[in-house]
Amino acid sequence: MVRIEIRPEELAYRIKDYNPSFDDTHLNKAYVFGLTAHGKQTRASGESYFNHPVEVAGILTKMKLDEATIITGLLHDVVEDSDTSLDEIERKFGSVIRQLVDGVTKLSQVEMSVSGDVSNTTKQVENLRKFILAMSKDIRVLLVKLADRLHNMRTLSGLKNPDKRKRIAIETLDLYAPLAGRIGLNDFKDELEDLAFAELQPEANQFISSKLSELQILEQDLIAAISEELTKGLQSQSLKATVQGRMKSPFSIWKKMQRKNVSFENLSDIMAFRILVDSLADCYQALGVVHTAYSTVPGRFKDYISTPKSNGYQSIHTCVIGPHKHRIEVQIRTREMQEVADRGVAAHWSYKEGVPNKDHLNLLWLRDLQEVSDSSADPEDFLEHAKLSLYSDQVFCFTPRGEVYSLPAKATAIDFAYAVHSEIGYHCVGAKINGIIAPLRTVLRNGDQVEILTSPSQVPQIEWGSFAVTGKVKSSVKRARAQAEREEHIYRGLHALQKEFLAENYPFSEKPLEQARRNFAAKSIEDLYIMISENKITARDLFHSIFPGTRLVAQKSKKPNGAADGEQGTVSVLTRAVNSSSLPIQGLPAAMAYHLAGCCHPLPGDRIVGIVSPGKGATIHTIGCPSLASLCEHSERWLDLSWNLEVTAANNHLGRITAVIAHQPEAMGNLCTVIGMNHATINNLKITHKWPDHYEIMLDIEVRDLRHLTHIITALRANPAVNSVERRAVIA
Ligand code: MN
Repeated sequence: MVRIEIRPEELAYRIKDYNPSFDDTHLNKAYVFGLTAHGKQTRASGESYFNHPVEVAGILTKMKLDEATIITGLLHDVVEDSDTSLDEIERKFGSVIRQLVDGVTKLSQVEMSVSGDVSNTTKQVENLRKFILAMSKDIRVLLVKLADRLHNMRTLSGLKNPDKRKRIAIETLDLYAPLAGRIGLNDFKDELEDLAFAELQPEANQFISSKLSELQILEQDLIAAISEELTKGLQSQSLKATVQGRMKSPFSIWKKMQRKNVSFENLSDIMAFRILVDSLADCYQALGVVHTAYSTVPGRFKDYISTPKSNGYQSIHTCVIGPHKHRIEVQIRTREMQEVADRGVAAHWSYKEGVPNKDHLNLLWLRDLQEVSDSSADPEDFLEHAKLSLYSDQVFCFTPRGEVYSLPAKATAIDFAYAVHSEIGYHCVGAKINGIIAPLRTVLRNGDQVEILTSPSQVPQIEWGSFAVTGKVKSSVKRARAQAEREEHIYRGLHALQKEFLAENYPFSEKPLEQARRNFAAKSIEDLYIMISENKITARDLFHSIFPGTRLVAQKSKKPNGAADGEQGTVSVLTRAVNSSSLPIQGLPAAMAYHLAGCCHPLPGDRIVGIVSPGKGATIHTIGCPSLASLCEHSERWLDLSWNLEVTAANNHLGRITAVIAHQPEAMGNLCTVIGMNHATINNLKITHKWPDHYEIMLDIEVRDLRHLTHIITALRANPAVNSVERRAVIA
């Protein structure tokens, strides 16, 4: 029954591999002490409990950690789970190990989930504070805790209680995986995420894993073949390089399927290759070899060597159509960089040094968190700050000329525009991210290259406030909103006054208003209009102050030019901003005519842009419409628009789809029924392709908006007679 998987000699052997002068006296003593302290305790799986701390110590040797950390791994559960006291630990192993074991024990007692029950914020915050306090004294505490969690996750299936398993998996995904990422332990992070994913989404994990092994069988030694070809290419340029290939992890594939909203079949790069070289110069030479031999996938190149991630990670990432026409991800780095990627913070200190110097470790975020914890009175503030500091980072993005700007995480293209220059932000109409037109609300990622399109006629748009994160944009939007309100008042006041003139049968002119302005102590004529709009004076008062002779009887006099209503006579005069809230499209300059492009038939809900043609107004395209490519040069014609979904409820927008259905008697009927049941009308239908057992048909459907169409597509996909359905973005 009591069988320990790793013997002390094995641990010592592993340590000696990276620390030849290692003396195993203390290690052996700790091993025996731990084994005795846990005695006959067993884990939920029935195996000897001591297996767990030994495995944790084993994980720590892989990170090439110092003796104290590895001994702490062996002893990390003795205080919690046996009657050993901290004093005893100190007597036997010294004060450093005591502090480390104490730290890990405290971390273990803080059972919490950062994103857990919101109703219990105070408790959550108190826990988080304790947690940070325990780990900020010595980062090795966190390393042991992460190794502890990794082993517990690896053996999670041993736990019988499904609720407990789930809670641990959620906590891992919420807290420990981000922490591992934050200190640069990327492999830890990936493994923790994969294990938690397998527990939380067993079906999805099963599906992806089986697909991956299917592929491995189907493509046989594809990874080996591609690795070999890459190696040959590098060798031909006399580069000393090691190539490692792997299938991507189920969790990373699942995240990509979600993010890109694609099915597994359409997911092309599921293999990743790593090229390890000796020097920095070799990295770029290897990159040259790869980019010369294979065509690159645009928008996927990232140089974390010249701009390292804030956790110290350095590497070049690129994506190419590689050997055998497979899309593959390639990471290029030196062996030293690989060490940092493997060992995170630990890579920066030697196993001999003992307590590492925190300033060297990129741990300023931890100190910062500690300070906020000490000083912040409001628990919610602190929690918010802690979450930000755990999960987020700065993102670094580039201009086309290669200038780098750092922005807070979740920053969008409009934040970037303002970061470059307020004037650029002010006149921003669109953005190209990594060479592709993208909406201004697009959240930027590290390494994105962002080109801002501007137009002299553009002004800040109020809707920017809903997706900007930087203060620069928000204050600009605030000013824009104040300006818009002012214009609205000016418009209303002017309108009221023009009506008054019309009613009195006087031609409207601003000339006589100059005197009135002084009478009412207004700074400008516009302020005079605002006073009317805000009911500080009436239009009638104003009119009579200008023309004291006219009498009230005039109010009911004839309308000029035979107009039935005074208002109609004024319409042509109004060139001021029109309140756009009742128009289906937002962001158009006042009174600009528009029509929906015939090429892409935008639906309400689609991301849209307007292209201004002199004399014709704006043509509205979907942001992905191919016809926009030729217009990139003319950024002055671009308008950043959006739908006002509250006024587009009518069922009169055309959406085009293509569907492949089985050649069976009931298939076409089923298809039409599904569409009808979802309250849409078929406007046009055409069989575009015939195979012996399938038809491809094209349908134009009258729908309310994008959601309506998406709903129908989803319903069709669920129908057994329907093989596949796609929206056709372009209507030819
Ligand atoms: Mn443990």
